[in-house]
Amino acid sequence: MLAPRQLALPDALGCVTAAPVVARDAVPPFANTAVDGYALRACDVASVPATLAVVGTVPAGASRDAPVGPGEAVRIMTGAPLPPGADAVCMVEWTTTSADGTRVTISRSVAAGDAVRRAGEDVAAGQEVFPAGTILTPGCLGVLAALGETSVLAHPRPRVGVLSTGDELHEGPGPLPKGAIRDTNRAALLALVAQSGFTAVDLGVVRDDDEALRGALLDGAARCDALLSSGGVSVGDRDVVKAVLAEISGDTMRWMQVAVRPAKPFAFGEIGPDATPVFGLPGNPVSAMVAFELYARPALRKMAGHARLGRPQLLAVADEELARRPDGKLHLQRVVAGHGPDGRVHVRSAGGQGSHQLHAMALANALALLPDGEGVTAGGPVQVMLLDAEQVAPLEASTPDALDLLGGPGGGRDLAAGRATRSGR
Ligand code: AMP
Ligand code: MG
Repeated sequence: MLAPRQLALPDALGCVTAAPVVARDAVPPFANTAVDGYALRACDVASVPATLAVVGTVPAGASRDAPVGPGEAVRIMTGAPLPPGADAVCMVEWTTTSADGTRVTISRSVAAGDAVRRAGEDVAAGQEVFPAGTILTPGCLGVLAALGETSVLAHPRPRVGVLSTGDELHEGPGPLPKGAIRDTNRAALLALVAQSGFTAVDLGVVRDDDEALRGALLDGAARCDALLSSGGVSVGDRDVVKAVLAEISGDTMRWMQVAVRPAKPFAFGEIGPDATPVFGLPGNPVSAMVAFELYARPALRKMAGHARLGRPQLLAVADEELARRPDGKLHLQRVVAGHGPDGRVHVRSAGGQGSHQLHAMALANALALLPDGEGVTAGGPVQVMLLDAEQVAPLEASTPDALDLLGGPGGGRDLAAGRATRSGR
C-alpha cells in the first residue's frame, strides 16, 4: 500500500482515506430556513389567517441579531440564518404581503421547527464522517469542502509506467515496413491504467536490446510506483527481456504459465533501489489487457488502499452457446452484456476470440469465465466479470431506466435533454 499523504481535494477523487475524517465544524453551521418565506413564532399563527408586522428582511449571506417578537415576522430567503425569537418559517406561497410591505397575512399554521434546518442536522461537530478506507466519491469531496477541509489524508494514486517491447513494433503513422506491426498494447494499457484511477506514465517502445531495456526499466522504476511491460515473457521469446529483467530484479522475477486463456504467460518481480514492482504482461493484445485485469489491476488497487480488488462479477444468462474445449484452463471469453426484460444480465459473444483479435475486446463490456470443460449452452448460466458496468445497457428499448421513471410528458428524457416544458428550481 502506498504511504498516505495529504491530497488536495481536486486530486483526491477515487482515492482511499487512510484515517477517519472527523468534522471540525457542524453542517449546517447555523439554524437556517429551507424555504423563502417569513420567520415567525409558531404560536402567533396557531389560528389563521393571522396578520403579523414585517420587521425586517434577511437574505442568504446576511444575519439579524434583533429578536422576532410577539406578532412579528421577518422576511427570509432560503439559507438565511433563522433570527432569534423565531422558531418556524412559513413559506411565501402561504402568505400575502400588504402593498407597502409592512404587514403579512399568514394563511396556514406552521409548527415550531417547520422549514427550519437545524445546526448540525447534516453533520455534527466532532462526528466521524468517514472511516479509514472510504473511497472518496464526489459526494465525499463535497462534504469535506463543507467542513472547510482543503485536503484529505489518503493513499495517493499509483503512478504506473507502461512500456512496449519488441523489435517488430513500428512507431509513427507512416506505412509499415515489411514484418513490422503497430504498437497496440501501450495505448490500451495506458488507457486501462487511467480508467482504473491511476496515473499513467508513457515509457514508450523499447527495442529488444539489453542496454535500451535496462535503461528504460530502471528509469521507469525511478519515476513510477509500478511498471507494466508487454511482450517478451512467453516461452520461446528471444531472451533479451527476460535476461534484463532477471538481472535488474536481483532474481526476484518469476516467469509463470497461468492456467488461463488468454493471459497465460506472465512475469512478476521487483526492480531498482525501491523494489518497484514490474508486471511482465504477454505481447498478444487481448492477453495483455486480460493479464492487466487479472494480475496487475488488483495489485495496483491494493497499492492504492482499496479493499475490493477485483472487477464486479455476477451470474448472467448466455443468450447463445459459448463453446470451448477442455484443456485444463479457465477461459475468458469477450462478451457483450446487457440487461434483459427479466431483470437479469444476458451475454453474447463479442466476436473473434483469438488472443490477437482485439476488436472483440474493444466491443466487449464483460469477460465470461468458462471453467475447464465444454463451455455453456444457449440459455445456460455463466459467471461474468464486468469490465465497464456503465456500458451494461438494456437489451430492449422498452426496458425502462431511471430517466423514464421521472414521469411528465415524454418522461424525464425531455428534462435531461434540456427541453423542460416548465421552469423549475
Ligand atoms: P511476445 O509476447 O513478445 O512473444 O508477443 C506475442 C505476440 O504479440 C506477437 O505476435 C507480437 O508481435 C505481439 N505483440 C507484442 N507486443 C505488442 C504490442 N505492443 N502491440 C501489438 N502487438 C504486440
Ligand atoms: Mg516479443
